[in-house]
Amino acid sequence: MKRKNLLGMSQDEIMALIEAIGEKPFRGKQLYHQIYERHELDFDQMTELSKSFRARLKEEFVVLVPQVTRRSEAADGTLKYLFRLEDGRHVEAVFIPEADRDTLCISSQVGCNVGCRFCMTAQMGLIRNLKPEEILGQVMAIVKERGLVRGSYSIVFMGMGEPLQNYKNVMQSFRILIDPLGMSLSHRKVTISTSGFVPVLKKMQQEEVFPNLAISLNATTDETRTSIMPLNERWGIEELMATCREFPIEPRRRIMFEYVMIKGITDSDDDARRLVRLLKGLHPKVNLIPYNPNPGLPYERPTEQRIIAFRQILVDNNVAVFMRRTRGDDIAAACGQLAYLEQKTPVAEGA
Ligand code: SAH
Ligand code: SF4
Repeated sequence: MKRKNLLGMSQDEIMALIEAIGEKPFRGKQLYHQIYERHELDFDQMTELSKSFRARLKEEFVVLVPQVTRRSEAADGTLKYLFRLEDGRHVEAVFIPEADRDTLCISSQVGCNVGCRFCMTAQMGLIRNLKPEEILGQVMAIVKERGLVRGSYSIVFMGMGEPLQNYKNVMQSFRILIDPLGMSLSHRKVTISTSGFVPVLKKMQQEEVFPNLAISLNATTDETRTSIMPLNERWGIEELMATCREFPIEPRRRIMFEYVMIKGITDSDDDARRLVRLLKGLHPKVNLIPYNPNPGLPYERPTEQRIIAFRQILVDNNVAVFMRRTRGDDIAAACGQLAYLEQKTPVAEGA
């Protein structure tokens, strides 16, 4: 019989499983703590648990992270990880080291079906949602390999996939990430980036705790946005911005708007001025992302001059704007460049 993977399970789920094998539920609590707080994946090393309990656990369960099949390091230290999942599919995650804190950029789906024209992941279509064990598995594998300590890193769901299309599993992972008995990250250190699924954003407003939001706005008129992000046809800019305004005050303060600057399409001075108007009253942060060119896609990055002029208009209008140096672009690890296209070939059974 296949042993059950405990990774990705909540404390209640682990306690229920432990009870089901005839053990006391509090032992499940201890086990949960060992896995998520101590990052311990090997039952033999969980020496705070009794020997007999550990032996029992080994019979029934495993704690497994996806296998790292490739690591590419960029000149600037950014590391791209390729993970092989149980069914032979692959996803990518990126580790971005920085002086004050590290960032892990993780995936929520294999591929994506939102179809943004400029994005490499879109070329894959959607293959499937990631399970909580696969989402947390990316974090756990990198945290363990790099020896990261709690509080020293942030997590952004900006890898492959649209997190709000896999809401249940993403939120289960989020709850474990921020659980003080789990991975105990501050909820301010987890950011979900979305292309703007309004109904799911509304659902998120009902949650007791939710992560930081990053909204991929990317354009300032419905016409342009629809032409590069087809989902804008369903939920236009006005509706999206109105939904952002509905977020309770504290989290609303931290909403980040991502804006991909594409030459001749989203980078004009008029765009910058419209962006200022759209963001009025939101206390936003704008993340300007100069387009990362992808092979086969017709889009280009604006000139440095254009980017600076655009940025200046935001600054002059007191919009908080930051532009991260593009990281990892020599290994195609930058925003919107994650796509493991080889997997378009069907994976053989048992491969
Ligand atoms: N699906 C989510 C999260 C993953 S994409 C979302 O769309 O928000 C993360 C960010 O990368 C998004 O802001 C997206 O607009 C941006 N992006 C996609 N392709 C890009 C590219 N080629 N160059 C720069 N940014 C890109
Ligand atoms: Fe999907 Fe985000 Fe890429 Fe759009 S930008 S296709 S939502 S991953």
